[in-house]
Order: sequence, then structure tokens, then C-alpha cells
Amino acid sequence: MPDTIFHKILRREIPADIVYEDEHLIAFRDIAPQAPVHVLFIPKHPVIDTLDALRPGDAALVGKLVLAAADYARREGFAQNGYRVVMNCREDAGQTVFHIHLHLLAGAQLGHFGA
Ligand code: 5GP
Repeated sequence: MPDTIFHKILRREIPADIVYEDEHLIAFRDIAPQAPVHVLFIPKHPVIDTLDALRPGDAALVGKLVLAAADYARREGFAQNGYRVVMNCREDAGQTVFHIHLHLLAGAQLGHFGA
């Protein structure tokens, strides 16, 4: 598995604005935010490159990412207004970092998206 910028963030080799961490995952602010709140949730182990590589045994891991994002939204006070979570898979979705991650976007009325 090739090293990615997110591996470097996990190993604290490059800085990131980490807003949450537990034994399973970390969450940090996106360097190029697409909304007033734009946080990335990434698993620590195992390292999975993209959504298409997920297997049934990874269900708990994905659930933890989603629940951590929902908890964060409640804690930060924007759950009532709403938010969006996104996971991009490969080129057509614009995936650029091949370490599975969940985007949490909030803080403004978000436009619809598509092709
Ligand atoms: P993707 O396009 O793969 O779904 O999302 C990757 C995200 O990682 C992008 O939104 C991009 O702005 C963000 N990103 C890329 N490099 C860095 C970095 O070094 N630090 C942080 N905090 N975010 C990054």
C-alpha cells in the first residue's frame, strides 16, 4: 500500500488541525475547505485505499466513521441545521487521497451536486 499524505498525518510527520481522535480514527480540518466546516474522518487501522476495497468485515469501521461525524456535528452545534457526509471513490468522484476517508461538510446551505 503506497504511503499517502494521510498516513503522514497519522504518524504526525506533517501537521494537521486535529479536532477529534480515539483508538479507531482521527478527524482533522480539510486543508482546502469546501464549506465553513469541512472535516475529514479517517480510520487508523486497517489502511484501506478506497470504498471499493471495503469488505463485510469492515462494516464496523465504516460505522465508526459515520457515527464519529454525527457525534461531532451534535457536539459542535450544527446537527440541527444539517450537514453532509461524502465518501469519494476513485477518479470519477474526484478521490485524490487513497486512504479511505469521510468528508463532513456544514455551516452553510450546501448546493446540490452531480455531474
Ligand atoms: P478526496 O478528494 O480524496 O475525497 O479528499 C481528499 C481531501 O484531502 C481533499 O478535500 C483535500 O483538500 C484534502 N487534503 C489533501 N492534502 C491535505 C493535507 O495535507 N492536509 C489536510 N488537512 N487536508 C488535505
